[in-house]
Formats: sequence, C-alpha cells, structure tokens
Amino acid sequence: MNNTTGKTSNHPQGNKPEADNRFYRQASFLISAGKAGQFPQGGMEIAFAGRSNAGKSSAINTLCDNKGLARTSKTPGRTRLVNFFAIDDEHRLVDLPGYGFARVPLQMKKEWEKLMTDYLSEQQALCGLVIIMDIRHPLNETDWQMLEWCHHYQLPAHVLLTKADKIKRGVQQASKLKTQKLIKEAGLDASVQIFSALKKTGLDQLVAKLDEWMKRSQSAANKRK
Ligand code: GDP
Repeated sequence: MNNTTGKTSNHPQGNKPEADNRFYRQASFLISAGKAGQFPQGGMEIAFAGRSNAGKSSAINTLCDNKGLARTSKTPGRTRLVNFFAIDDEHRLVDLPGYGFARVPLQMKKEWEKLMTDYLSEQQALCGLVIIMDIRHPLNETDWQMLEWCHHYQLPAHVLLTKADKIKRGVQQASKLKTQKLIKEAGLDASVQIFSALKKTGLDQLVAKLDEWMKRSQSAANKRK
C-alpha cells in the first residue's frame, strides 16, 4: 500500500501480557467506496458489520478511543458505502453499511447484498469480520446471513454482543452461551464475546482478537513472499 497516512507502524507483535488499544487509536478516515473497483488494495484490514442501531459505530469509536471516527460513516451519502479507516500504511478498519430491512425497498436490499458480497468475496486484504449484535436480541435474519457468508468465503468471524451494560451479568452470560450454541448447531463458526461501548467491557478481548487476525494474516503474507 502507498504511504497515504504518513503514520508509522507500531503494531503489537506479541511479547505483551495484555492487549491495549494504542495501535487502533491511530485510525483516521481514509476513503468511502461504493463498488469493488474503489476498495483500497494491499495491506490488511478488519471489517465491522451489524444491523443499524446495534451499536457498530459506538464499538468502533470505543476501540479507537475516538468519538467522532465512525460518525463519518453516518454522514449523509456515506451510510450505504463501505468506509475505510487507516491505522497505519498496512492496516485498516472497515465500517460496512448497516442493515435492517423491514421497511426498505427490495432494490435497496439487493444493492446492499451486491456491495457486501463483492466486498467479502473480492477484498484480498480482509482478514476477519466483526459482527455487532445487541446482546438483548442477537442473531436476526441478516446476522445469520453474515455468518453464512463468512462460512462460505472462509472468513473468520467474531460476534460482539454489545450494550451489555443494559442487562445483568448473569443474563449477559446466558445470551453469550445461547448465541455460541445456536451458531455451533447451525454448523457455523464464530467466536463470541460480551461488550459494552459505554463501559468498555470486553475491549481487551476485542483488541486481542483483532491483533490475532492481523498477526495471523501477516505471517500468512510472509510465508507467501
Ligand atoms: P450503529 O447504527 O450500529 O452504528 O449504532 P450506534 O453506535 O449509533 O448506537 C445506536 C444507539 O445505541 C446509540 O444511541 C448509542 O448511544 C447506543 N449504544 C451503542 N453502544 C452502546 C453500549 O454499549 N451501551 C449503551 N448503553 N448504549 C449503546
């Protein structure tokens, strides 16, 4: 990837007992893309998907310690685009357009599906997908579709059960166990964690997962050299 940000890479490559989000705090808006030819090439990236209002922007903002970051994706004209954030020259975070189609025209749903499948199938840099769900009602129809796409495209998936601060700890655990069980029973594969953007619950776990994906992808790229 070209040096578009002028930032230096300090990606944590291990040796640290605890994950921290310093690396992700460097993220800044790079580009919005409405079709495959416009996606940035090279490097590696992790994407975030979720039903509208599930808490995707808040999760990205908490990860990056930047309240305004994913607001960019919510500005008019950008909500239906794939929004890329550069962490450094080699690493990106990607905010995928939100879903929730109860009241939208079929044509709009088809356009969303085309953009999503183009992105998931063609973006070589993609090393994992974080699927954001409200912990109080996870696994809606489109969440299942996302999990099935990950399975189909052999892409690692991580489910973030967010807004955990809204329910008691025991209920959080029950939701996590049920979600894990249903995913397993469906023959699909995803790690699942509890999260709260408000309280920063589970932030270390999310960072550890993203680091793991970036690292794994890095070693795969090294082997190809
Ligand atoms: P998006 O449409 O998926 O990007 O959702 P947002 O991040 O904009 O969140 C939707 C609403 O849920 C907003 O009012 C947020 O303040 C709220 N929200 C998001 N995450 C949390 C959380 O972890 N805890 C609580 N209590 N509210 C949250």
